[in-house]
Amino acid sequence: MKVFKFGGASVNSADAVRNMAHIVESHLGPEPLVVVVSAMGKTTNLLEKLVPWEAVGAECSKEHGDLRHQLEDYHMEIVRGLMPGDDEVVRLVGSLLQQLDATIASLQPTAERYNYNYDQVVSFGELLSTTIIAHYLNRQGVSTRWVDARQVIVTDAHHREGRVDWEATRTACGRLADQAKGCQVALTQGFIAATADKKSTTLGREGSDYSAAILAYCLGAESVTIWKDVPGFLNADPKFFPDTVKINEIPYDEAIELAYYGASVIHPKTVKPLQNMGIPLYIRSFIDPASKGSVIGNYRTISPETPLFIFRNDQILLSIYPRDYSFIAEDNLQVIFGMLNELGIRVNLMQNSALSFSICVDNRPQLVELLVERLKSMFRVRYNENLQLVTIRYYTQEVIDRIVAGRPVLLEQRSRLTEQVVVPLR
Ligand code: ASP
Ligand code: MG
Repeated sequence: MKVFKFGGASVNSADAVRNMAHIVESHLGPEPLVVVVSAMGKTTNLLEKLVPWEAVGAECSKEHGDLRHQLEDYHMEIVRGLMPGDDEVVRLVGSLLQQLDATIASLQPTAERYNYNYDQVVSFGELLSTTIIAHYLNRQGVSTRWVDARQVIVTDAHHREGRVDWEATRTACGRLADQAKGCQVALTQGFIAATADKKSTTLGREGSDYSAAILAYCLGAESVTIWKDVPGFLNADPKFFPDTVKINEIPYDEAIELAYYGASVIHPKTVKPLQNMGIPLYIRSFIDPASKGSVIGNYRTISPETPLFIFRNDQILLSIYPRDYSFIAEDNLQVIFGMLNELGIRVNLMQNSALSFSICVDNRPQLVELLVERLKSMFRVRYNENLQLVTIRYYTQEVIDRIVAGRPVLLEQRSRLTEQVVVPLR
């Protein structure tokens, strides 16, 4: 069995869905193909704004109404573009939108309920996309079974970042395999799951890759293919870097390291389950589906060997000094990490000296402000904003110099394979 995953950009218009369907059709085999799909285009961002949050005033409710219309127009336009005159699919999508309205109306808009509410609302993006696409594939003569991922992937009630119950999911996957028998495609949603008592959960933004990996692991699939708008695994994000090189083969561990440092090619949690089962992960282009792409698998080194770059923009560097002139040692560090952990702030790079401790974090202003506020009782805090953290794997001095390009280096860390520098954003 093979698992395919299509992200939002690969299904963001009627033409995109037609292209995606062609790719699926050209890979049909004797066994059902498991296809995991994200919400269409930027639907998840839009749905995030519809999550009930606090008492809705007149202003808010107008904005809410506009967004709700946008959501409907966008999906109905795709439906009409794909299946003109098909009343059945219009009815299906209409009924999902009604369910969404009823869901929103039923939720308590309190801060404590926010994460729970988020999952109940945002999960409709994937329900909409897969309902439309399953209908389309069936009309194209591809026998497709729509599978509700919330009946298959079981998580705990940690909303917005559900943690998988592997036992329960494996059992449910067995049922999925049975249901899919005799079909050409089992089509399901990425990103969404449910608790044992059937409350919707989500796996974290961009979590559809992870969904594909969870299913592949539990089904013992032979491979996973992620179809993307890039030709494969590139050595840098083409948005930041003019001449990227495609990496053909990547060892599992390398892919995990890169995701950890912030490479955005694949969701960080995706690789581990695949590595455990030795399932290869292909990254291929939906724009040029005939090209070969990249494979993450059981390799010793990357090929071709070339430096890999990860840029994280909008970083802030906090330098923390104990007010009582004590040293930065375990006791102070414990306090600092306690605060970071409580606020859910991830440290991208850290360094300590006897008298100060420096951390580089994403600049999420409200959180950082809260952190600084709390630190101030025991520490003096200085900070630099508008920074870039560059991670270079397989660096050479020449490559570092080229990247730094004369900018002052605020923090630098070097290990055998990895160089990390914090510099002002250009
Ligand atoms: N639709 C979700 C998101 O945009 C999940 C995904 O695309 O992987 O975050
Ligand atoms: Mg997406």
